[in-house]
Amino acid sequence: MSEHVVRRPALSPSRASDFKQCPLLYRFRAVDRLPEKPTRAQVRGTVVHSVLEQLFALPADQRVPSTAQDLLHPSWSRLLAERAELAELFSGEQDPEFGRWLEDAQKMLTGYFGLEDPRRLEPEACELLVEAELPSGVLLRGYIDRLDVAPTGEIRVVDYKTGAAPREIGEAKAMFQMKFYALVLWRLRGVVPRQLRLMYLADRQNLAYAPDEAELRRFERTLEAIWAAILRAGRTGDFRPNPSRLCDWCDHKALCPEFGGTPPPYPGWPEPDPGVETALDRSD
Ligand code: SF4
Repeated sequence: MSEHVVRRPALSPSRASDFKQCPLLYRFRAVDRLPEKPTRAQVRGTVVHSVLEQLFALPADQRVPSTAQDLLHPSWSRLLAERAELAELFSGEQDPEFGRWLEDAQKMLTGYFGLEDPRRLEPEACELLVEAELPSGVLLRGYIDRLDVAPTGEIRVVDYKTGAAPREIGEAKAMFQMKFYALVLWRLRGVVPRQLRLMYLADRQNLAYAPDEAELRRFERTLEAIWAAILRAGRTGDFRPNPSRLCDWCDHKALCPEFGGTPPPYPGWPEPDPGVETALDRSD
């Protein structure tokens, strides 16, 4: 018997960041749900994340660089089998661009092993879906790349950054995402994570941050304000464009009034889940 689960609208870190950046971008993505063309960098990130997840599913002594490199091509093939449109990214596996793309992914995995030795770790979970309801009723939902829990109960949230951009560019967004997870975990488990760790695989750099309870309370109010603004805009359909240099990466310029376009008619607030986040969202 199949079970149809209707999920309540929730806020995810990607969609909250979209709304902060540009309410119209949020609308295009979360309400209109317009398709976007995945970039090579996004797909590379998804594949590298998948390899690291598979690596931690293996016995500790097998988590060595050669195993990770061996998982790379099969992970790409699997993703391609699930999403045939990704074949358009290259003209085939003989395409020199594909070779360079694969090499960059290999370098990221090498970068990962330069940052830590996975044989010495036993994460509680990888690619963990977490969901928590704030006392105000706002539902938060997101995926955590990796959760490490020490025998003492201390929690570390780990996020792999696989984007090509230098870490300074996306750092504020990454911190927002990490505080989001910290808040969800605090609300779920009653423990403030001891450390939020961003691992920049291309740069081979770690960025660690220790949140505190007062900060998470303030962040909770920020998210509540964002959600209230989303709901207000959702009721009226008034999602304003907010142009910035990030427009250069927006797939929807042709529909944006700031660039002479016209958005499609407002379809109304979506049900059941405008907070949904895809693997590609999480690949930066
Ligand atoms: S082009 Fe810029 S202003 Fe327009 S929707 Fe995209 S991000 Fe917003």
